[in-house]
Amino acid sequence: MSSDQTYVIVGASLAGAKAAETLREEGFDGRVVLVGAEEERPYERPPLSKEYLRGEAGREKLYVHDEGFYAEHDIELQLGRTAVSLDTASCEVELDAGERMRYDRLLLTTGAEPRRLEIPGADLDGVFYLRSVQDSDALRERIDGGGAVVVVGAGWIGAEAAASARQRGLDVTVIEPASVPLERVLGAEIGAIYRDIHADHGVRMLLGTGVEAFEGSGAVERVRTSDGRPIDCDFVVVGVGVQPRTRLAAEAGLAISNGILVDARLRANAPGVFAAGDVANAQHPFYGEPIRVEHWANALNQAPAAARNMLGQTVAYDRLPYFFSDQYDVGMEYSGYSRGCDRVVVRGDPAAREFIAFWLFDDRVMAGMNVNVWDVTDPIKQLIQERVAVNDRDLADPDVPLDRLARATSGRAA
Ligand SMILES: Cc1cc2nc3c(=O)[nH]c(=O)nc-3n(C[C@H](O)[C@H](O)[C@H](O)COP(=O)(O)OP(=O)(O)OC[C@H]3O[C@@H](n4cnc5c(N)ncnc54)[C@H](O)[C@@H]3O)c2cc1C
Repeated sequence: MSSDQTYVIVGASLAGAKAAETLREEGFDGRVVLVGAEEERPYERPPLSKEYLRGEAGREKLYVHDEGFYAEHDIELQLGRTAVSLDTASCEVELDAGERMRYDRLLLTTGAEPRRLEIPGADLDGVFYLRSVQDSDALRERIDGGGAVVVVGAGWIGAEAAASARQRGLDVTVIEPASVPLERVLGAEIGAIYRDIHADHGVRMLLGTGVEAFEGSGAVERVRTSDGRPIDCDFVVVGVGVQPRTRLAAEAGLAISNGILVDARLRANAPGVFAAGDVANAQHPFYGEPIRVEHWANALNQAPAAARNMLGQTVAYDRLPYFFSDQYDVGMEYSGYSRGCDRVVVRGDPAAREFIAFWLFDDRVMAGMNVNVWDVTDPIKQLIQERVAVNDRDLADPDVPLDRLARATSGRAA
């Protein structure tokens, strides 16, 4: 492998760090530069709304690698540096201090950032967003002060932040325009189970209404809902989704559509440029269309695939989307992609919070979510990936082992 080459990775979080690690694992002995806007070495974000936010886990649990890892593997970690422009004709990246770096291969792992609410009072003190470890530190300090919090948005981040605040004994109100939490992914029926879980833990769920304004003098004191209700609070957490950080790529003329468009080998439409993780809208061989996944496992696994392709291997990234969430004592894993499903079949007991939900189209499982039921991800993925024909009765019956279902009819063509 030619040691005079420079591979630059922009975005030093989970995806960037795993790509750098993979380049070395695969024997690349050229220059590897990992540029990150944050001051912190690469860390994982899932604990930021869970155990780290609650003060149950320390910062050392967050990091992707030990402190010495980057030097030991001759990875040039440039922290607190932002890539401000990219010239794909001359193959150069410009950093904020004006330095220009030539690359032979470039990987963009610039991730995603929270959508901001632009409503009256948005700039008041006490309005928190949650993406970085600093955000989590600031929010934890505020949670430590107790009181009443309004969580705006009942997606994954909002739901987890609400659960953590409630677990720390705060008075929690969630405001969400949809009819149930997590409706976009789970639909009304399964989302209702999460509504009940939060309500059972004493969270006030204001559903079917949005937020019109934050009010207060200097700091937020109340939230005005779109149906005119004033909700008093000491602070607010906003979790209304994220958007891919595409500015650098867009200004360089790369194809952008809901993220950086890349093919199944994670290649963008410029020579030697790749993208992975939250920012990448990657052609998915199984679905036959581009999919952008904003979850931990995608950053973890897609970036190594990108690294291998940077090295000239041929790796199509075809893993099914997968994510997890923990709220109170309810843990879940979700595999697949439920778009276009025509029904949901449930196995187990939602009231006991131990069940598996399957989203189906026709006689095929498109997605599955196991809640407080473990070690079933492999057969669920197999049912989806191998397009196994199933019937609702077997799927709903806990006495029919999932791996038997997956094995019995696997291999059927689509
Ligand atoms: C609070 C929280 C909880 C989560 N919980 C879960 C969970 O339970 N389960 C799950 O599956 N997923 C979870 N996720 C999602 C998961 O953390 C993300 O999918 C993952 O972080 C994506 O990694 P990434 O490396 O692609 O991007 P990011 O983590 O967004 O990192 C991108 C990095 O690039 C840097 N950057 C951007 N532009 C530039 C530039 N021009 N120059 C230099 N650096 C730049 C950014 O500063 C950032 O550090 C959670 C996310 C958050 C925020």
